[in-house]
Amino acid sequence: MSQVIVESEISQALQDYKQLAERLVRKGSVFSLFKLQTELIRKHSSGDDEELVQEMIFDFMEILKQVVDENVTCPKCNKPYTFRICTGLSREHDNGIELTCEVCGDCYSHSEQRELVTYFNINAWKEADHLRRRSRGFTVTYTLESLAAKAVLFIYDDMLKRPELRINGHRVFDPAEVKTYWEHSKRIIKQWKNGEEIIEESSRVGDGVFYRLDEVI
Ligand SMILES: [Zn+2]
Repeated sequence: MSQVIVESEISQALQDYKQLAERLVRKGSVFSLFKLQTELIRKHSSGDDEELVQEMIFDFMEILKQVVDENVTCPKCNKPYTFRICTGLSREHDNGIELTCEVCGDCYSHSEQRELVTYFNINAWKEADHLRRRSRGFTVTYTLESLAAKAVLFIYDDMLKRPELRINGHRVFDPAEVKTYWEHSKRIIKQWKNGEEIIEESSRVGDGVFYRLDEVI
């Protein structure tokens, strides 16, 4: 078989694969396709040189990037996402992808080793970080740990320990909402420091009390 025929067959196969990927991606299956395809590559190349496997996964992620760039937009802003390929993540044999909307800040990411897609908002995270630096006497975190409430304020019985405002990154995507929780926390902390009565409901946990901030806004 001549070189030209082989090349045209490869190019046809690639074309077919891209069409299939397009159909899946348009249905909203970017991350399922990423997971499935990387698993298949690893399964069918077990025993192969890790460098070769990594190369195949990288080639696939490049194709996925092209397909996503051409077919997927942020549903809130109708703008294409910035697609990032993340290789050599902290865990061994892990690669990931990240889609960020530069307009609203929504960010989705997934990796071979992770079970679930991570979804948070970069602008909300930046706002929390900005407010953290402005906070006196309490800490602010925008956390992706599982938290039932959208935001909680934890105040320790020990007044020497700083109160903690924890904002749930899985449920708070708007920077303005982050600021509301921050201001609300400041009011409660002020009352607590002045020994005033705090009207908000709290629940006792371990060595302090929790205030669920989203129920009272
Ligand atoms: Zn957007």
